Amino acid sequence: MSARSALPAIATAAAAVLLIGCTSTEPSASGGPDISLVKSGKLTTCTHLPYPPFQSRQGKKIVGFDVDLVDLVASELKVKQEIVDTPFEGIQSGEDLNTSTCDVAAAGMTITAVREKNLDFSRPYFEATQALLTRKGKPYRTLADLKGKRLAVQQGTTGETYAQKRAVGATLVQFEDLGLLVSAVKTGQVAAGINDNGVLYDFVKDNPDTEVTAEFSTGEKYGIAVRTGNDALRKKINQVLADAKKDGRYDTIYRKWFGTAPSS
Ligand code: GLN
Repeated sequence: MSARSALPAIATAAAAVLLIGCTSTEPSASGGPDISLVKSGKLTTCTHLPYPPFQSRQGKKIVGFDVDLVDLVASELKVKQEIVDTPFEGIQSGEDLNTSTCDVAAAGMTITAVREKNLDFSRPYFEATQALLTRKGKPYRTLADLKGKRLAVQQGTTGETYAQKRAVGATLVQFEDLGLLVSAVKTGQVAAGINDNGVLYDFVKDNPDTEVTAEFSTGEKYGIAVRTGNDALRKKINQVLADAKKDGRYDTIYRKWFGTAPSS
């Protein structure tokens, strides 16, 4: 099988979730006086739009895979989720959580050692890898092919860090959000763009003049983040994720946004 024809299979497999093996030693009581929320009666979520299918605007509503998962937590706490759209930099640096802008950050955010110093993550809920988006028919299938070319990266992301280390000789062009990055690729302002596989495969579905030409096996896992030390809320999130995985709600949400069953 050529690297190219393997891509759709990889894309499906890449979304496997790793909640299996969670022991449920955590308390199952709902809510509880130990969980305090930044706005009473609400679970306030920081995210950065657009990042479909994890979070994006649909009419007046913000919808997506992450939105549905956090709704499960909110309903367990008997509150409504309220979403704040804010730059990814403040989310991934821990600033938004530490200044009590939000209770949780759910933004297709990869668990990394650097981020772990500034915020706390739930257990992983989704697997991802970096991928390359180009206009269809362009000869960019590796980072080496981008030597001397413009490569779009999204500010503050693991894709940007990966490109800084690996795309030697490419000119990195920074974009503030995914929407700007993908349209720069589509309109030919840049030769290619790097971002997580899930969002790029979602984009090419509706944009057949573009394609995903490579995946880079970065082995990333998404986590929902809370302020450092907010163990009560983190444990509640872990418990809800584990329960949802066990009782099929996770799979239902997964199928709704990805059209297939999760591979594990
Ligand atoms: N998963 C990537 C990261 O955590 C991108 C997240 C995003 O842009 N919302 O850096």
